[in-house]
Amino acid sequence: MTQPLDTLGRPVRDLRISVTDRCNFRCTYCMPKEIFGPEYRFLSRDEKLTYEEITRVAGLFAERGVTKLRLTGGEPLLRREIEKLIAMLAGVGGIDDLTLTTNASLLARKAETLKEAGLMRVTVSLDALDDPTFMAMNDVDYPVETVLEGIKVASDAGLGPIKINAVVQRGVNEHAVVDLARYFRGTGHIVRFIEYMDVGTTNGWRLDDVVPALEMIEAVNQEFPLEPLQPNYVGEVAKRYRYKDGGGEIGVIASVTQPFCGDCTRVRLSPDGSIFTCLFSGSGTDLKEPIREGASDMEIGEIIDRVWAKRADRYSEIRSSQTVSIGQRVEMSYIGG
Ligand code: SAM
Ligand code: SF4
Ligand code: SF4
Repeated sequence: MTQPLDTLGRPVRDLRISVTDRCNFRCTYCMPKEIFGPEYRFLSRDEKLTYEEITRVAGLFAERGVTKLRLTGGEPLLRREIEKLIAMLAGVGGIDDLTLTTNASLLARKAETLKEAGLMRVTVSLDALDDPTFMAMNDVDYPVETVLEGIKVASDAGLGPIKINAVVQRGVNEHAVVDLARYFRGTGHIVRFIEYMDVGTTNGWRLDDVVPALEMIEAVNQEFPLEPLQPNYVGEVAKRYRYKDGGGEIGVIASVTQPFCGDCTRVRLSPDGSIFTCLFSGSGTDLKEPIREGASDMEIGEIIDRVWAKRADRYSEIRSSQTVSIGQRVEMSYIGG
């Protein structure tokens, strides 16, 4: 099978599968309570792709060059028997990396079965180490301790080294940058600081709320001197740094101030079966209907090939040249990180 290139010559390598739009957190930057309240209509069970359907789509992408799969959401561990899906995806040929991003609320309970099913690593989101800040950000009073416990159990189960993602917002959790760096130094886990992005249209994003990656790196460097590292592979989103004293590494994801669209080889599958070629896409291409109407692998593969061949997305580069947020966009809790 030939591997398709988009209009900017980019192959498809990394499929992010959002398995649910539901979450038990209400992070203010992702699912603000005022919008994702009791009246919000989440997808019904029938509307979501089944595990068989997801695995079939993953297989078609693998034939086209995808080697990395990441499960996300919403909160992926809320989807029932997620380990079954993991075991099915672990059997897809050509996949060398199978990971999951989670808020870790259910991780301590599930880490062992996830590992047994074939999950290779987890990424855990944790925005602060002090309860007042973390609880205000997750907005459901979820304590830090449970997340740290999840990280420990997952690490003991062999799902490490664990990446810890922290979204940093001006005036909200800037202090967490050095706290997190200090706490995870020397553990082998890798904290990655993420610039707050204008994903979706519900979080009231303003450029002033973004803490530039360089500022975060400088804050850590003041206390624990750092030096840059080479990327692990082309298209790696995080810029890597290591502690000069050998205490491990950290990363920054500077999607606002240093966009990396030129190397973007990611595609996203929504819980209800649409593919999105950019995190900031306004709309996707539905695969569920053709799948449920009995389309063959060849027919679905042709849809995928057409979408990828037309792909011209480079939203972050365009946004940064205009320094404003533009257009109608899909929500992060629906499409995943
Ligand atoms: N619920 C899981 C979690 O929080 O890890 C997986 C889904 S969540 C949408 C994936 C990642 O997106 C998380 O690390 C989260 O912090 C990040 N995220 C959500 N909204 C964001 C935003 N506006 N800017 C930057 N990152 C964001
Ligand atoms: Fe849920 Fe993750 Fe969004 Fe927080 S960032 S609301 S944990 S989906
Ligand atoms: Fe990829 Fe779109 Fe993000 Fe650019 S803005 S890196 S094209 S997902």
